[in-house]
Amino acid sequence: MQQGVPRGAPPRPARPSRTPAAPLRISPRALLAGLAAGAALVVVLWLAQAVPSLRLGAFFATLAHLAGLLAAYGILVMLLLMARVPAVEHGVGADRLARWHALGGRYVLTLVLAHATLALCAYTAANGTDLLTTALNLLGYPALAAAAAGTAVLAAVGAASARAARRRLRHETWRALHLLTYLGAALAFAHQLAGPDLAGGAFAAWLWTMLHTTVGVLLLWYRLIVPVRQALRHDLRVSEVRSEGPGVVSLVIQGRGLDALRAEPGQFFRWRFLGRRLWRTALPFSLSAPPRNDALRITVKACGDHTRRIRRLRPGVRVLATGPFGALTAHRRTRRKVLLLAGGVGITPMRALFETLPAVPGDLTLLYRTGSADQLVLRGELETIARSRGAALHYLLGPSDGPFDPLAPRALRNLLPDLPDHDVYLCGPPGMTRSAISALKRAGVPSARIHTERFTF
Ligand SMILES: Cc1cc2nc3c(=O)[nH]c(=O)nc-3n(C[C@H](O)[C@H](O)[C@H](O)COP(=O)(O)OP(=O)(O)OC[C@H]3O[C@@H](n4cnc5c(N)ncnc54)[C@H](O)[C@@H]3O)c2cc1C
Repeated sequence: MQQGVPRGAPPRPARPSRTPAAPLRISPRALLAGLAAGAALVVVLWLAQAVPSLRLGAFFATLAHLAGLLAAYGILVMLLLMARVPAVEHGVGADRLARWHALGGRYVLTLVLAHATLALCAYTAANGTDLLTTALNLLGYPALAAAAAGTAVLAAVGAASARAARRRLRHETWRALHLLTYLGAALAFAHQLAGPDLAGGAFAAWLWTMLHTTVGVLLLWYRLIVPVRQALRHDLRVSEVRSEGPGVVSLVIQGRGLDALRAEPGQFFRWRFLGRRLWRTALPFSLSAPPRNDALRITVKACGDHTRRIRRLRPGVRVLATGPFGALTAHRRTRRKVLLLAGGVGITPMRALFETLPAVPGDLTLLYRTGSADQLVLRGELETIARSRGAALHYLLGPSDGPFDPLAPRALRNLLPDLPDHDVYLCGPPGMTRSAISALKRAGVPSARIHTERFTF
């Protein structure tokens, strides 16, 4: 079922669109190229020191060195991806970074285990003893004991992050376990400095230390110092809690000098509400209205313990927010015409973009998919924006398993005959996002013009 914007109400004058000065952004391709170049350099470092030999022990040792160097580099990359460096967050997007981190983590863990196994085989072959005796002997050396402890910690974090385990763990428990990665990385670093690859070369040891120091400083700066500075500077507090429909509330959060955050429509913050049973966790929510110098707004759907508690927050509660994060912003646009496609509470970033993306009448369309009309939120605002900007707004209502699929390629082309000429911004539940991407591609939109953000990490 589709429903157009009711006509007749007096148009509200269009607000001038805010186009903030572009912050530095590192594109996904540039980041991947940089990381691949780093891996290639690691291989060169290994080749420069590898001594060809036909002895079995030496063969295992050479491979162990390669696996160890790549594993160490991989650990560094994993930490860098999660350092929340703004140029990376805004260029690549937090959801994509989280996916790369999860995928990369598996490879890194495999390399760590391969390194440990190959090194054990190398020592065993060289000494002519059995694996158990070698392992017990090696644990007598402090650097190797540290390495074994680091490997055990990383393996435990990896096991806790496996899909089956993560589904059973509370988010907070999983996060607390994940913090152990820092311990694992520190133990591994101590081992690397004592290892033959770096101990033998002053330049390599200096470079390795500089790389680790840089990533350490970035982590400290963006995950600790910047959030504390933001908290002191902006003094955020909940100023209004407004019901938007069944289980959905909007929160207006007031603060000082918020322009300095340089938040953009389409982005999100991690919010920590210093209220009862909420202060322990920082939850990601998108801005549901363009940011102002004195206020930010989010719209939250109750779907679990924390989001249910948010509904009961009262004005005055202090808020710690870190961000902005996310790459679903105007900078991704490549075409004059834009389709915003929202599913459920995925309307929040779309609502902010609907008001602010520069467009002349006829260029902008918002499709908003929900199960039924009573699940539509921010409806009055969307209709006012549509009228004032000459933008099209369609509600696509009906159950996702109903006989008519309003997101099928043909249905989309009926609504927008020139769909392939559009950039598409998409945000919704995972199932809807997957099928919408597939339908958009089949309707002729190239994947490079489908910009999406997932509401899960
Ligand atoms: C980038 C992004 C933007 C989002 N924007 C909005 C929005 O504008 N409005 C809205 O209603 N929802 C939004 N969400 C979803 C919202 O963050 C989750 O619904 C909320 O965190 C669930 O918390 P809960 O404890 O109530 O639910 P739970 O049932 O405990 O958790 C549900 C799921 O949310 C995830 N989750 C829980 N806690 C966290 C956390 N601290 N950090 C990250 N993920 C967590 C877990 O993967 C879990 O499977 C967004 C999510 C992301 C990733």
